[in-house]
Formats: sequence, C-alpha cells, structure tokens
Amino acid sequence: MVQRVVLYDSWDCEPPRVPPRSYLYSLAPIGVGTPWVEGFSNYLTRLVTAHLLSPEDLVAHLSNSYPSLLNLMSKGGILNGYRNWANSQSDRARALVDSISRATGREDIALLTCIPLECIALIPCRRTLAWCPACYEAQRKARSNVYDLLLWSIAIVTVCPLHRCHLQEQCPCCGSKVMPFTTLYRPGHCSTCQRWLGKELEHGIPLVESTDEALWNSKAIFELLRSAKRELSSLSEIFRWNIRNLVQDRTGGNIEQLARECRLSWQTIRELISLEGRIPEVGTLLKFCHHFQVQPHLFLSEGRSRRHEAAPQGKNRVEQVRLSLANAANETPPRMP
Ligand SMILES: [Zn+2]
Ligand SMILES: [Zn+2]
Repeated sequence: MVQRVVLYDSWDCEPPRVPPRSYLYSLAPIGVGTPWVEGFSNYLTRLVTAHLLSPEDLVAHLSNSYPSLLNLMSKGGILNGYRNWANSQSDRARALVDSISRATGREDIALLTCIPLECIALIPCRRTLAWCPACYEAQRKARSNVYDLLLWSIAIVTVCPLHRCHLQEQCPCCGSKVMPFTTLYRPGHCSTCQRWLGKELEHGIPLVESTDEALWNSKAIFELLRSAKRELSSLSEIFRWNIRNLVQDRTGGNIEQLARECRLSWQTIRELISLEGRIPEVGTLLKFCHHFQVQPHLFLSEGRSRRHEAAPQGKNRVEQVRLSLANAANETPPRMP
C-alpha cells in the first residue's frame, strides 16, 4: 500500500521588515494646513510631556545626536532663544526644526513656524506668550486639546480674528508674562501662578471695531497661515508680479503718490514692486495691502490682483466685471522659476 506524502508549507525564514524607528515619539501636530495650526513652542511642550522630560533635558538629549544644536548651546542659552522664538524664521529656530524633524521622523514640523512664509515676508515673533482667552475657553469647552496657536506668537497680530478681542500678554491674576516651553508651563495656564487663562467672551472682554486696522492685520495673517505650505517659495515670483500689476493698474506707476498715501518711503514701494527686491517686513506689506484693501494671500494666486479691485458700482457693474475678466484672461502669465 502506497502512502500519500503530504507536503506542508515551508517556513519563511526571512526576517520581517521593520520600518526605521524615530529617535523620539512621532507626535502628530495639531491643525497643520489650517490657520489654527499650533505653534512649534506648543508642539515642543507636548513633546516633552509625552516623553516625561523637561525642556532642558530634551535639548540636552538632542544635542548628543545633533552637533549643530550643541554649537548653538555653546553660544549661550539655547532655551532663552527658543521659548516663543521657536516659531520664528531665525536660523536658530531653523536648526531646532531640523533636529526635531529628524528625531521624530516628521516632515511637517516647519509648518508650525513662520519659516514657510519667509519667501513673501519677514515676520517678527514675540518673546513671551500672547493668547486669546475666549479661544482657550472654547478649546476647553469643546474638550479638545488646549494649545497655543502659531498665530498668537506673531508680533503684529494683536487681535483674535475670530472673537475680535485683544490678545492678552500678562496673567490677569499675578501680572506675570507667560513663558512657553518652560518646566512649569502648561498650555492655557500661567507659567508662574498656574491659574487658568481662559475666559468667556460674555464676561466683560472688550471688543475692537470691525473696521479696526489691527483686526484687518490679524485676519490677513490668519489667511496667510492658511496658505502656508512647503512649496510656497515657488509662488514668490507670482506674489511680486501681482503686487506690481496692482500698483500699475491703480496708480499708473506713480510711486511717489502711492508712497505718500501708504505712509511709506518711495524706496520701500520700489523694493516691494521689484521682482528682485528684498523680502519686505510684514508690517510694511500689511500697510501696503491695507491701503488697497487687498488681503496679501490673494497675491499668491495668478492674476488675482485684478479680480480683487474695488467692486464697480451702478449699471455698468456687469460690463466692467466682464471687461476685467477678459483682460485677466489675456494677461501674459509670469515666468515660472
Ligand atoms: Zn479667540
Ligand atoms: Zn499668573
């Protein structure tokens, strides 16, 4: 009698493929790609909490692996320069972003800073925390993460674009400035007395007028953050081209008159409309944009400057819009880099 031979599957002796591990926990940032994105200093606070470390310990650990950070520490006080400055466009912020990106294996860390916007404006940041008490309160009520927005760390933003109230910069309980990314700091709480910093809008928070220039500026930055992305530098030429186009259309190229109206020097205006000019400081850019009532993020779209001219009034409105659209369609597009 012939016995049947049973063939069993052979064993796969290949070791399983393990994806590369990051040095730090790959914590997902909050609100990337939206104007509500968290600031890098807030991300660092969450990162050290997740690892049960102090900010100093985190930087010390990273310095062992990334000598560029060690060099910065030896130049004196990396943390002093990395409280809210972590959100800025400085070289030191860039070095920390690079180290944290590699240590967490994440490619979106730079989007928690003002670095993606450096191709269109130089944006100074605050050294200490500013916050909207109504936003904190809304975050707590929604039982979501309580966190600090990147928007609040930008010095020219002094009003919350959502709640129309002034940002606070001193604890109402102890009067201290609040220092983010310190051992005692928890988002939403004072770093000195630990009191809650949120407040209902109805509880006596004064609102600014809807026509206030500070509110306009805050909304402009809010929209710029919505546009911030890694490949933004490819749009910098279109941005300049749209500004130049708008000046030509509205003033016929009379730079001196425009400079008087905007309360800027004619050299500044000339720099602004030059394709090779220096990157403007954000205050200058916003002053210029406010004069024309055109939000700066609109300059990032090809041919948008013509479409966002003041709306024509009266019977000729339809004809004027049709003419403007026809002109825009016949424009020579800018050369892509
Ligand atoms: Zn708010
Ligand atoms: Zn306090």
